[in-house]
Amino acid sequence: MRIVIAGAGMAGLSTALALGRSGHDVTLLERNCIFRESTWEECLRGPREGIAHFFQPHAFWPRGRLLLKNAFPDVYQALLDAGACELHLNRKIRGEAQPGDEDLIYLGVRRPLIEWALLRAVLREPRIAVRGGVRVMGTLGRQGAVPVVTGLRTSEGDVQADLVIDALGRTSPASSWLQALGATAPRTESSPCGLVYYSRYFQLKPGAAMPMQDYLISPRGDLGYGGFITFLGDNRTFAIVLSIPTSDADLKILQHEPAFMAACRQIPVTAGLADPAFAEPISRVLPMGGLLNTLCHYIGDEGPVAFGFLPIGDSLCHTNPAYALGLTFSLIHALELCEALRKVPADDPRSQAMEYFARITPEMNERYWLGCALDAARTRMWQGQRLDFTRRDGCHPLFLFAGAAAVALDDGEVCRKTLRRMGVLDRLSTFDDDIVLQQRVEELLARKFAEGPPPRPGPPRAELIRAVRGSMGQTGGTL
Ligand SMILES: Cc1cc2nc3c(=O)[nH]c(=O)nc-3n(C[C@H](O)[C@H](O)[C@H](O)COP(=O)(O)OP(=O)(O)OC[C@H]3O[C@@H](n4cnc5c(N)ncnc54)[C@H](O)[C@@H]3O)c2cc1C
Repeated sequence: MRIVIAGAGMAGLSTALALGRSGHDVTLLERNCIFRESTWEECLRGPREGIAHFFQPHAFWPRGRLLLKNAFPDVYQALLDAGACELHLNRKIRGEAQPGDEDLIYLGVRRPLIEWALLRAVLREPRIAVRGGVRVMGTLGRQGAVPVVTGLRTSEGDVQADLVIDALGRTSPASSWLQALGATAPRTESSPCGLVYYSRYFQLKPGAAMPMQDYLISPRGDLGYGGFITFLGDNRTFAIVLSIPTSDADLKILQHEPAFMAACRQIPVTAGLADPAFAEPISRVLPMGGLLNTLCHYIGDEGPVAFGFLPIGDSLCHTNPAYALGLTFSLIHALELCEALRKVPADDPRSQAMEYFARITPEMNERYWLGCALDAARTRMWQGQRLDFTRRDGCHPLFLFAGAAAVALDDGEVCRKTLRRMGVLDRLSTFDDDIVLQQRVEELLARKFAEGPPPRPGPPRAELIRAVRGSMGQTGGTL
């Protein structure tokens, strides 16, 4: 088929690669310039205006890492050669290894490297034409209640195709383009993630090693009014992310470097990580706000809202970045789309769409709804409500997320199932339906917290604010 893909982010690049290698003729359109000869070091220096979160930390969960390795082994090897690091989470599991444990590997790599490796592979494919500096401005097609999309309108002229793929990311305007052709608007669910992110990358000093042994993945903690997470990168880099509620105007001061560093110094774990003897900062503080969970439904009661048009990646669904699902789902969408096109004849766009969405929807929807439930619970906790994450009949989403994670290092099976759930290797029902294992989590939590809840991993909010204001030369003000 002649396929045009709008957007060369993670989803567009991996879909182009999968389709081009399956024998389709692919045109990939991207509004940013495409630097064909760039090294990965040059990609880290940018520019990349098309994606606001390009330099934000990204984690590659085990499922995404496995799909990448199996589907595009050359890309995976290029990432390892460029310094990506494999973190063997299976080594955290107590007791005897089981089949499948070897898949529990997280890939530490910065996002610009991932795009660099994918783009390099894409540029080598004879069936893929990559056009940078081209702004997609609308869809071409035959009007109707279910319009037939036949191409894209761009800043460089029209591009005709048998199939149009929307990989324009979380701000894709494609829904309005389809409505201009007469389509019913895809039903969209959306809810705020309720947090703002501040991130900074660091480079480990020679001989320094991340303190991983006490954590299921890497250092993280909840302060009761905000939290911190760390992300491992390539080449001995890591990022500290401080997240705060969207509503906390005082803590937005963390966007300033002195305040961010002062906050890190107030939290014992991050104080060690940000210590100049341990690591040196290699980026500025990167803010990220306006975060939403969004899910679009392109199949209505009567079937697809348009023919010849399929959305992938963030344009279809995006969730709180703290759950790190986007890279994995981009790959799932790319590979399942390829399978759907292999199975369904090219002249049957209705069945193509039905097949594609049938393959991706159940897993995508359950992760979306879980993300919304977790965000709602966390927002309530950060507002001061007490939610019980230690019992199945308390806050169930938190019980299976934070509760299970809190005791996972104490029990092999809890650890395995928790990592497989987080890492998207299992469907949610694997743990959700295992009542015996959940009872074990309850027992472990009861034992662990017999003497009361553990101390918070950082200072009270007022103390943190005083310290960060002090770092900015500010005093006073209400807290
Ligand atoms: C702060 C943050 C942190 C994240 N962390 C993680 C993580 O740890 N792990 C994880 O798995 N996922 C993470 N994600 C999600 C992840 O980045 C995405 O899900 C994934 O990269 C897929 O994005 P995409 O390709 O669909 O869209 P994008 O990456 O946004 O790509 C869209 C592309 O379309 C181009 N484009 C846009 N408009 C036009 C136009 N009109 N014409 C031509 N081109 C256009 C853009 O320039 C861009 O290249 C994070 C997201 C955010 C916001």
